[in-house]
Order: sequence, then C-alpha cells, then structure tokens
Amino acid sequence: MSGFKTTLISCQQCGRRIMVRAADTERGSITCSHVGCGAVNILQKPFHYDETIVQGLPLFGQLTYLGSPETQYPLQFGDNVIGTSDTCTVQVARFVHNGRCFISRRHCTLTVVFDKWTGQLRYQLQDGTVDLAMHSVQSSLNGTQLNGTSLQKTEIVDVDNEGIITLGGVDRFRLTHFSIPAAMLDTYKIELDFNPDRTQ
Ligand SMILES: [Zn+2]
Repeated sequence: MSGFKTTLISCQQCGRRIMVRAADTERGSITCSHVGCGAVNILQKPFHYDETIVQGLPLFGQLTYLGSPETQYPLQFGDNVIGTSDTCTVQVARFVHNGRCFISRRHCTLTVVFDKWTGQLRYQLQDGTVDLAMHSVQSSLNGTQLNGTSLQKTEIVDVDNEGIITLGGVDRFRLTHFSIPAAMLDTYKIELDFNPDRTQ
C-alpha cells in the first residue's frame, strides 16, 4: 500500500477522532478505539465523476411538444434559452391558439449541468432569461409552469425526467433526460481521499 497516508475520521457514534490505516481501508471498517465506545465505523471510499465526461456525450436530452409529438427539440449542455425568437438556443414554433401565441420571444431558460456526485445530468428551469450585464431577469409575459405549478420570479427548479414544462399556460413540452451509460461512467470515476465530512 505505497502512497497510503493515514487519515483521521470522526467516529459516527462518539464523534471523537480515530486514525484510519491501510489495513482498515482494506477491511472496509474500523472499530473505534476510544474507551467506552468501540463502535464499528463503515469506511466507504468517497468518489465523484470527472466533469470532462460531458465532452464525449452524443446528446443532452430533448423537449417534445405534446401538441404534436413528432416535434422535438434537442438540448445543448449549459444554458438553453427557449422561445420563438431566432436568438434562442431552442427556437420553438409560434404555436397559435385562437389567433394568439402565448410563448414569449425569449420565454424561459433550461440549464443542463453535470452533477459530479451522481454522475448524471441535471436540468434546471427558470422563467425568463438572465441578463448578466443588467444583473436582472427578464420574465416571460405569460409565465412558465413545471408539472402544473407556476414558477415564481427568479425561482430555479430541477426538472425530473418526463417532467412537463408549460409555456404561457398553454403549450406543453415533455423533457427527456439523457442518461449517461453506467459503463461510460465507470471510466470517469475518481476516488477521493477520506474526508471526515463525507465519511459515513
Ligand atoms: Zn467512537
């Protein structure tokens, strides 16, 4: 076990510090040596996933328009501004209902990020668009809903796989996550040193 350095963790029963040695790590547990405790602490090597995995992904999920399910919009990594303007990352059609279109030119922002702890993509939805220069949010005219609940101004919510996003109270889109294959994830796994705060 060359290169292994001893580490201190906090006992999960008594809270006092105990020293983890290589043999303990191999066994996968350590018995607290403090008088009157003796608790068995399970050692799990913490890990996360390397964010460069996103560079090799073929897809980042999509939105399906429920009014005509053959109408699909692919997403990109990072911010996806959704609206009818050609300045949007995801330019949707001007769906007209009783002569009106309820979707704003720049209606909402769906941000795709990589969660290094779960190894999966997260989809975060916000009504309107963020104007970095103005430090402000430009809201949509008719609002954004997730699974039937209206988003508050500046609220950011996670959208689950199959979540329904409604723009302007009328046009509904279903989000399909892109799921990173387990075999690919395994090759991007990074084991971390023991950190008392994350040891269970
Ligand atoms: Zn203890």
